[in-house]
Amino acid sequence: MGAKGTSVKKSWCFFCKGRCSVKVFVDGDRLVKIEPDPEVPGTQGAGCKGARYKNTVDWFYSLHRLNYPLKRMGRRGENKWKQVTWDEALDEISKTLAELREKHGAETLSVSAGDAWGNSEEYKTRFLSLFGSPNIFGPSPICMGPRSLVCEAIFGWYPQMSVRAVTKCVMALGVNMEITRPAVWKEYMNARKNGAKLIVIDPRFSEISAAADLWLQLKPGTDSVVLLAMIDHIIKIGIYDKHFVSKWCHGFEQLALRAAECPVDRAEKISGVPADQIREAAEIYASSQPAAIVEGMGVEQQTNGAQIIHARCILAGITGNVDIEGGEELHGGFAHTGFVTDRQIELLDALPQSQRRKQIAYDKFRLHSWPGQELLEKYMSKNLGEKGSVHWYTGQAHQPSVYRTILSEDPYPIKAMISSASNPMVSHSNTSMVYRALKKLDLYVVFDLMMNPSAQLADYVLPAASWLEREHLWSYLGYKDTLFGCHATVPVRTSNYDRRDDFTFWRELGVRLGQEDYWPWKSLKEACDERMKNCEISFDELCEKGYWRILEPGYQKYKSQSFNTPTGKIELYSTILEEFGYDPLPYYEAPPLSQERTPDISKEYPFILINGSRIRQFMHSMWREVPSVRKLHAYPRVQIHPDTAISLNIENGEWVWIETPVGRIRQCCMYFDGIEPNVIHAEGQWWYPELPGEEPFLYGIWLSNVNVILNDDPESCNEITGGWPLRHTLCKVYK
Ligand code: SF4
Repeated sequence: MGAKGTSVKKSWCFFCKGRCSVKVFVDGDRLVKIEPDPEVPGTQGAGCKGARYKNTVDWFYSLHRLNYPLKRMGRRGENKWKQVTWDEALDEISKTLAELREKHGAETLSVSAGDAWGNSEEYKTRFLSLFGSPNIFGPSPICMGPRSLVCEAIFGWYPQMSVRAVTKCVMALGVNMEITRPAVWKEYMNARKNGAKLIVIDPRFSEISAAADLWLQLKPGTDSVVLLAMIDHIIKIGIYDKHFVSKWCHGFEQLALRAAECPVDRAEKISGVPADQIREAAEIYASSQPAAIVEGMGVEQQTNGAQIIHARCILAGITGNVDIEGGEELHGGFAHTGFVTDRQIELLDALPQSQRRKQIAYDKFRLHSWPGQELLEKYMSKNLGEKGSVHWYTGQAHQPSVYRTILSEDPYPIKAMISSASNPMVSHSNTSMVYRALKKLDLYVVFDLMMNPSAQLADYVLPAASWLEREHLWSYLGYKDTLFGCHATVPVRTSNYDRRDDFTFWRELGVRLGQEDYWPWKSLKEACDERMKNCEISFDELCEKGYWRILEPGYQKYKSQSFNTPTGKIELYSTILEEFGYDPLPYYEAPPLSQERTPDISKEYPFILINGSRIRQFMHSMWREVPSVRKLHAYPRVQIHPDTAISLNIENGEWVWIETPVGRIRQCCMYFDGIEPNVIHAEGQWWYPELPGEEPFLYGIWLSNVNVILNDDPESCNEITGGWPLRHTLCKVYK
């Protein structure tokens, strides 16, 4: 117990990937505060420096928080609602879904996912598998998809940033770990005490660049050139692991020829990174074993994203850093444990081939859609069995293509959409197209935590339980070696609100649509208990401990079981990419909108626009609705080099227009000499909860949100994984 009448409960904070252990203070049914829990190892709020956990009570009781199911009364976007019961809402939604499925086929339902704030995404997929639609989509082509898919193709598993105290070198690609991956950063700081080096490759100075032994400030969009030049240098001076390469790598000769096309001098011309720095980075990395590479969305959100990840896998492979402690650890998931995995919950096998083939962009981004899922799974299951693979980010429809299909009805009509843990109007690029698509739907349902611009366009808005109001059984998608668990700490229903966890939402909808036999558990708690029934500890014991390392670490497993790839080796030359008709080796291609490829456009739009670095106080589109947090970061800031700003007669703190060929927005100029003078960095996902919710305002969605001016043309997306160019487009800036 805390203060008189206040109970203290253990939990994990799910506001970001920091996953800090916390103590939750509750008085009756009222949340009082949360604090980091120093008794459990972790990062104790380092990522947000308290901005989020200290303001959790304000967030929890925010005026924007959704409390009861709402049904649209006026026109879509008019902000006129009627409170209804859960039964009324679910009965009506399921009736409409059944009618639409009857008329257009199950594929007419699409579901947009996002970053799951304590959601259990596996139940969403289970519902869709049983409903019969392959059209789940979300940010996977620009967040986690390229990393997991390409690593699985090359290594047979995704190593997930396995920095340890023994790690001798960390190479950070397009990531500011200090904010976005605080647990990994903490591990690096431990390793640093033992002399570990840090190489940072990023066009922008950040907290970790300041701590780096070497910061390679490259031109946005040129990462694959730099990595290929590092590979070439390592091969040319013979500092790769010859024994490991000859025994465990496939396609070294072809790789050497490809890398030779990109010597350091050429890389310097394209990327702007001095050749000496590229050589030095290559030599530090190759001579420090174990070495780990940590990549972030800064590389995934480029049109060369898959090629950059491929090159990063090759660097690890030729230096013998794979499947060793503190290098690229390949845990292999929970295949041989008693745990019921996310993959099993998803019931993917219930989705027939005929429906899989209807997935939007099935034939276009083939590693990202069902063909990729099936081929990767075939090789992973060789060693790991049917439980061995992971699905969550992969085997998805292609987000930009789904919106175009809604508008064109080609190849078939998509008439319904459910957004859960997703705020498309804020978070998806090409906002005007997203807006037109949402308005065209026959049925749009939003299941979320807060009223937001997307919810304003919905027919039904349903209140989701937050991470504090529900159980958690978190396996890190099955990639890591540990399970995390906690009980609900705050009631999900009180006299002031009636929310549901997402398990209950999908189950209730599924039961109404004939799925009852497949939802034997009546509650999320029952499902958690069942999934751990055959483990050494129960779900309740897991919650008591907080976390449980379910797998003992094992290294160099390939010696007995080979890698989970077609050749059984690390595929420097990827036979999986080759089978899909893609280039089996990494390459560099200039961005679709760039001085190299569109010189005429670049005359009018002379700057390279990057965006989206994490703002410490916010998480994606969240937290702007909480005044105590908003005052810490009141307005969107665009970083402009002082020389550039002065040449444009722009003062520090002045509002400016940022314009691309797609449109223009306004943000507040902040002088910043940590980027090159020809690069502009804008903040992402801005909306203004203090402005009216109804149209035309939609909480100011058109004013400052960078997605309003970004394009996501599928023809410009990465050909393998479908990512669109968020980190390199052209713009101009003016007052
Ligand atoms: S929001 Fe803060 S306290 Fe919560 S997990 Fe992230 S860093 Fe930790």
